[in-house]
Amino acid sequence: MSTLTRVTDPTPTDDAPVCSSRGCRAPAVWALRWNNPRLHVPDRRKTWLACPAHRGSLGDFLDARGFLREVAPLPGSHTLEA
Ligand SMILES: [Zn+2]
Repeated sequence: MSTLTRVTDPTPTDDAPVCSSRGCRAPAVWALRWNNPRLHVPDRRKTWLACPAHRGSLGDFLDARGFLREVAPLPGSHTLEA
Protein backbone atom coordinates (compact mmCIF):
# COMPACT_ATOMS: atom_id res chain seq x y z
CA MET A 1 0.00 0.00 0.00
CA SER A 2 1.37 3.33 -0.99
CA THR A 3 1.17 6.18 1.41
CA LEU A 4 2.25 8.71 -1.16
CA THR A 5 -1.05 9.17 -2.91
CA ARG A 6 -2.93 10.40 0.06
CA VAL A 7 -1.10 13.08 1.87
CA THR A 8 -3.14 14.88 4.44
CA ASP A 9 -6.63 14.19 3.33
CA PRO A 10 -8.19 10.92 4.32
CA THR A 11 -11.47 10.49 2.57
CA PRO A 12 -14.40 11.67 4.63
CA THR A 13 -17.25 9.31 5.20
CA ASP A 14 -18.36 7.78 1.94
CA ASP A 15 -22.03 8.51 2.28
CA ALA A 16 -21.67 12.19 3.05
CA PRO A 17 -20.65 14.27 0.06
CA VAL A 18 -18.81 17.37 1.15
CA CYS A 19 -18.68 20.87 -0.21
CA SER A 20 -16.23 21.50 -3.05
CA SER A 21 -15.22 24.87 -1.68
CA ARG A 22 -11.59 24.87 -0.69
CA GLY A 23 -11.10 23.84 2.89
CA CYS A 24 -14.78 23.38 3.56
CA ARG A 25 -15.90 20.07 5.02
CA ALA A 26 -19.56 20.87 5.39
CA PRO A 27 -22.05 18.40 3.96
CA ALA A 28 -23.02 19.33 0.43
CA VAL A 29 -26.67 19.82 -0.41
CA TRP A 30 -26.34 21.39 -3.85
CA ALA A 31 -24.86 20.19 -7.10
CA LEU A 32 -23.65 22.97 -9.36
CA ARG A 33 -23.33 21.73 -12.91
CA TRP A 34 -21.05 23.69 -15.14
CA ASN A 35 -19.21 23.62 -18.40
CA ASN A 36 -16.20 25.51 -19.61
CA PRO A 37 -16.71 25.85 -23.37
CA ARG A 38 -12.98 26.28 -23.90
CA LEU A 39 -12.19 22.97 -22.27
CA HIS A 40 -15.28 20.86 -22.52
CA VAL A 41 -17.59 19.69 -25.24
CA PRO A 42 -20.95 21.46 -24.97
CA ASP A 43 -22.86 18.64 -23.33
CA ARG A 44 -20.20 17.79 -20.83
CA ARG A 45 -21.00 18.71 -17.24
CA LYS A 46 -18.62 19.16 -14.40
CA THR A 47 -20.17 19.08 -10.98
CA TRP A 48 -19.22 21.02 -7.92
CA LEU A 49 -20.87 20.23 -4.65
CA ALA A 50 -21.82 23.02 -2.32
CA CYS A 51 -22.99 23.38 1.23
CA PRO A 52 -25.63 26.04 1.91
CA ALA A 53 -22.95 28.55 2.89
CA HIS A 54 -21.00 28.17 -0.33
CA ARG A 55 -23.76 27.70 -2.84
CA GLY A 56 -23.73 31.44 -3.48
CA SER A 57 -20.00 31.97 -3.76
CA LEU A 58 -19.37 28.89 -5.90
CA GLY A 59 -22.38 29.71 -8.03
CA ASP A 60 -21.28 33.31 -8.47
CA PHE A 61 -17.79 32.20 -9.41
CA LEU A 62 -19.10 29.97 -12.16
CA ASP A 63 -21.83 32.34 -13.23
CA ALA A 64 -19.40 35.25 -13.55
CA ARG A 65 -17.42 33.21 -16.05
CA GLY A 66 -20.49 32.03 -17.91
CA PHE A 67 -19.83 28.44 -16.92
CA LEU A 68 -22.81 27.73 -14.73
CA ARG A 69 -25.48 25.59 -16.37
CA GLU A 70 -27.71 24.46 -13.56
CA VAL A 71 -27.99 24.12 -9.84
CA ALA A 72 -29.81 21.15 -8.45
CA PRO A 73 -30.48 19.83 -4.98
CA LEU A 74 -28.15 16.98 -4.29
CA PRO A 75 -29.96 13.66 -4.46
CA GLY A 76 -30.15 12.10 -1.05
CA SER A 77 -29.89 15.34 0.78
CA HIS A 78 -32.38 15.44 3.59
CA THR A 79 -32.25 19.13 4.18
CA LEU A 80 -34.15 19.82 0.98
CA GLU A 81 -37.36 17.94 0.91
CA ALA A 82 -39.06 20.18 -1.59
ZN1 LIG B 1 -18.92 24.87 1.97
